[in-house]
Amino acid sequence: MVANKRDYYEVLGLKRESSPDEVKRAFRQAALKYHPDRNREPGAEDKFKEASEAYEVLSDPQRRQLYDRYGHAGLNGAGTHDFSSMRVDDIFSMFGDLFGDVFAAGPAREDRGVDIRTELTLTLSEVATGAERSIRYTREEVCDRCGGSGAAPGAKRTTCRTCGGYKVVERQASVGFFVSRTVVECPTCRGRGFLAGQDCDACAGSGRSEKQRTVTVKVPPGVHEGQSIRVRGGGEPSANGANYGDLHCLVHVQPHPFLERDGDHLLCRVPISIAQAALGAHIEVPTLRGKRSIRIPPGTQFGATFTLDGEGLPNLRTGRRGNEVIQVLIEVPRKLTREQEDLLRRFAEIETRHPGPESKSFFERLKAYFTGQPEDQ
Ligand SMILES: [Zn+2]
Ligand SMILES: [Zn+2]
Repeated sequence: MVANKRDYYEVLGLKRESSPDEVKRAFRQAALKYHPDRNREPGAEDKFKEASEAYEVLSDPQRRQLYDRYGHAGLNGAGTHDFSSMRVDDIFSMFGDLFGDVFAAGPAREDRGVDIRTELTLTLSEVATGAERSIRYTREEVCDRCGGSGAAPGAKRTTCRTCGGYKVVERQASVGFFVSRTVVECPTCRGRGFLAGQDCDACAGSGRSEKQRTVTVKVPPGVHEGQSIRVRGGGEPSANGANYGDLHCLVHVQPHPFLERDGDHLLCRVPISIAQAALGAHIEVPTLRGKRSIRIPPGTQFGATFTLDGEGLPNLRTGRRGNEVIQVLIEVPRKLTREQEDLLRRFAEIETRHPGPESKSFFERLKAYFTGQPEDQ
């Protein structure tokens, strides 16, 4: 990992002899340039993190000296953050005082709410019509009593000394020769960056309380298994409690006992008897709007399909309905009554003397094949 790291001076466009002020200015420029709020190019976030790492080292005289002397290898164990695993917002608040109020205007990215997820299951008929569902779920909300501060009335907040207000701390773990570093939520202040002095009774200082909530989710017709419906503001509050994230409802579609979905089309496999296939029949088939009768013509073959126009599902975007396709499967009876067997034997005798058109040509071609006669078309 150390091998493909870029030179920190190069990252910030600095010279070895650049002054601390120049280091600060260069980082400020790079961070503003690559902050994902302003720069939507792919890779901007990585560049932002790379610049942050370079700044953390070069802005600290001791670390800078180690780096100047031994390069990246000299910093192993010198306690730099693993920026690649940190959220941009957290990095930004780490160096927040460098930026003043550059990002203060507008909805700040660093105070986005937390998205949460729930699931809902629809029948195929509900997919066809669209559905409205009441969903009851539990979420964290800002504590009513303390307004999210976690402090008892009149108690004073102090900056957390464990994390210095950064809300996160670094954990080091040694496994053999390897030292792994991860950034975790500060356990002392539980990721708030401050201590409440005296905790609020209602939320025990967390600033949050669990609440039951009901929302109505509108599912559009034609939705697919695995899609999500977003309920804006249905999620959990941001760090300072000003914004709520979204609730994502993951859609499941219950399998239908007879109808199989294929995009916007439906497939129904219907078994018919040999006699029905040979003689033709009217059969009843299921659709999403009820039973329908269709005509099977005489001489229907195994696997033949019949299309019911517009009996499929509406397209999610266009609303155009797909079709329902009926596929017939011809069932050979497993058990015959005495009478059925007699009749079928009688049928077989006649059939050998007067074979049907398909089998006739097949057996004639087969005979010709084995006697070496040229096949006639
Ligand atoms: Zn409270
Ligand atoms: Zn802390």
